[in-house]
This record gives sequence, C-alpha cells and structure tokens, in this order.
Amino acid sequence: MSQAPAPLSTWARHIAPSPTLAVDAKAKALLAAGEDVCGFAAGEPDFDTPAHIKEACIAALLAGKTKYAPTPGIEPLRQAIAEKYAADHGMKISPAQVIVSPGGKFSCYLAILATCSPGDEVIIPAPYWVSYPEMVKLAGAVPRFVLAGDTTGFRLTPAMVEAAITPRTRLLILNSPSNPTGAVYSRAELEAIVAVALKHNLYILSDEIYEHLLYDGVAFASPATFSAEAAARTIIVSGFSKTYAMTGWRLGTTVAPAPLAKAIAELQSQISSNATTFAQYGALAALKEKEKTATALATMLVAFDRRRKFLHAALNQIPGVTCQLAQGAFYLFPNISSFGLKSDEFCTRLLDEQKVAAVHGSAFGAEGYLRLSYATSDEIIAKGAARLAVFCAGLRK
Ligand SMILES: *Cc1c(COP(=O)(O)O)cnc(C)c1O
Repeated sequence: MSQAPAPLSTWARHIAPSPTLAVDAKAKALLAAGEDVCGFAAGEPDFDTPAHIKEACIAALLAGKTKYAPTPGIEPLRQAIAEKYAADHGMKISPAQVIVSPGGKFSCYLAILATCSPGDEVIIPAPYWVSYPEMVKLAGAVPRFVLAGDTTGFRLTPAMVEAAITPRTRLLILNSPSNPTGAVYSRAELEAIVAVALKHNLYILSDEIYEHLLYDGVAFASPATFSAEAAARTIIVSGFSKTYAMTGWRLGTTVAPAPLAKAIAELQSQISSNATTFAQYGALAALKEKEKTATALATMLVAFDRRRKFLHAALNQIPGVTCQLAQGAFYLFPNISSFGLKSDEFCTRLLDEQKVAAVHGSAFGAEGYLRLSYATSDEIIAKGAARLAVFCAGLRK
C-alpha cells in the first residue's frame, strides 16, 4: 500500500525560495565543475572579514564565550550599537532599544512579525529585496508593491506611497541605499515620504544595511532622525554582513522604540534565542576598534567605487543596454527591456551561453532589468562585461 505524500503547510507550499541565493548556488556549482563562470549574482562582499574582528572572536571562543547569551545580545555590544547611532546620527538610544539577531534577514522578519497581524497590508517599494514579500506573507500579512523604475531613479514619490495606502496598511518598508538598485534617497525625499506614513499612522521598517556603502559623497538619511514622532514609528534594521564583510557570521541589528524592542526580543526568545555568542565579540571589536575598522572599510569602498564606475561605463557602451549610476550598496540594475526577452530567460541564456551569472529583474519585482553585483574582482567584472556585450550583440542579430 503506497502512502500519500506528507502534506505540507500553507507556508511551505507558498514560499518562493530566495532566487538570488539560487542563482549564486548554480554559478558556484558550475565553477566547482571547472566552468569559467563570471559571477555577478552574489549579494556579498568578496573581501574577507578584517583580521582584528576575527581575532576578537577567536579570543572570545578561547575564553569560553561558548554559552547562551542574553536573548537580545551581549550588553557591551548593545551599548556599542547605541553609541554608534549616537555618534553617527546624534540619536539618543538606550541599549534596551537594541536587539542583536542571527542575521539582518532575521531582524527584518522579526520587525514584520512584531508589527503586522494577519490581513494587514505592507507597502513594499519595487524593485525590492527578494525576501520582503515572502516574510510579509509568512506573517500572514499582504504585500502591496509600488514600482518605481529607472525613469524615476528607482525612487518612490510621496504621492505614490499615499495612493497605495488603505485602512489595512500597517507598515512601510524602506531600503536606502537599495538592494537591488543601489538607489539612495535624499533626506528631503525621505522626509516627504515619512510625513505621509506618519499621517496614516504607519510603522516604518527602515532597512539600513548599506548605510556605510555610499559613493560620490552622497549623504545617508534615516527616518528615525527626522522627528520624535518619526522615531516612535521607525524600526531600523541593519547588521554586520555588508559593511564589515561578515556575511557568514550571521549578525543583524535592530533599533526600535522600547515597546517594539521588547516585543521583538520576546519573539526572538522563542524562535532563535541569542545570536552566536562568540561572534558577537567579533562584532564588538568592529565597533570598538574604530581606526582599524575604518581603514578596512575605506579599502573596500575604494575598490567598490572603482568597480562601480567601470561596470557602469561598460554597460552603457553595450547597444540596447542603459544603466543608471547607482550611489550606494554594490549593485547596478541595468535596463535590458530593448531586447524583448523576459529577464529570467535573458539570465538563463546568459549563463548557459556566456557563463555569466546575473539575477533577473523579475525576482525583484521589476521586469526588464538585471541585477549585477560588483562585489567581485576587477578581472571578473571586465571579463563578464565583455561577455555580456557579446551576448547582447547576438540578440540584436
Ligand atoms: C544582505 C541584506 C540584508 C541582511 O543580510 P544578513 O546577512 O542577513 O545580515 C538585509 N537587507 C538587505 C536589503 C540586504 O541586502
């Protein structure tokens, strides 16, 4: 007698697995099989974690920091994070408002769980980071997408946000600098959008994970700094992955108004407990040994900036491709709509025919684009851009 397959839950049946991780895994598998792949898919710095951070973690491990820590994080790290926001943005935050979580991705999910009930609506600007819609759905809430393409610099206007608000809207997600577009909102632009959110009593999830990856001298702005009213409605999510090349460490941070911070810590206490204890000591060194960290970050930024300019110029030289010069993160989001192919077909063929891995725009809710990460070597960028040019020339024949 054959058994019926085990039934899966609504959540398991409806979740879309991360397309960025899937494309990257496929590229890495091809590389491992000896193929000469140019990978633009990974959303992580190609640099290693700075040595002083690793050393502090090793010392903590050797000193026996191997037990459970307090759920919201070790006290000195929460203190150091509060001090960082005070120093960088003049924010007055108590360590009780800070939660350290196993990855910024998890920080985002907890923020959504703490603010949204089943049936609530969440406004997600598109192109969006792939995980937001799935996290919203896993909370039983409903994503509402608002698309801003390259003609508006991938940035929403206050009117676009206002038009998407209904009586069920609870949360607005903002991500500046943006993954996947690298777009950065000015302070004035963000203030106008935040005013709309406050008028309708929304919460704001401000994903600031790329706060320190900025170019061309542009300034960063956080909604939590605009007014006491804005601070009371804003949850800042960030983490160590992108700024300090610590993706594998799994350390995210949340700064939230006290009642929300408490709720988030309680959710975390049942779902994951503390982020890895000895890893938190490495993160503490990243914040405390400021000069070493600043030197390491400056080295990465010089490389990212050089690659950004090179890739941007190379893309715009390809007939049929147009690309804006993004001012943050480490992505470019070129427009490939002139070729008349769906972006996933474009990317599948690009990988098969030219061994170039890029993520299709439709994965980010924006058909007609590609996401290219330039957090990879100069050689790969040069070689990959040349192959992309060959591929595009072939499509135009
Ligand atoms: C990478 C990323 C995160 C979180 O990364 P973690 O490695 O989980 O800390 C969050 N938001 C965006 C937009 C990202 O690109």
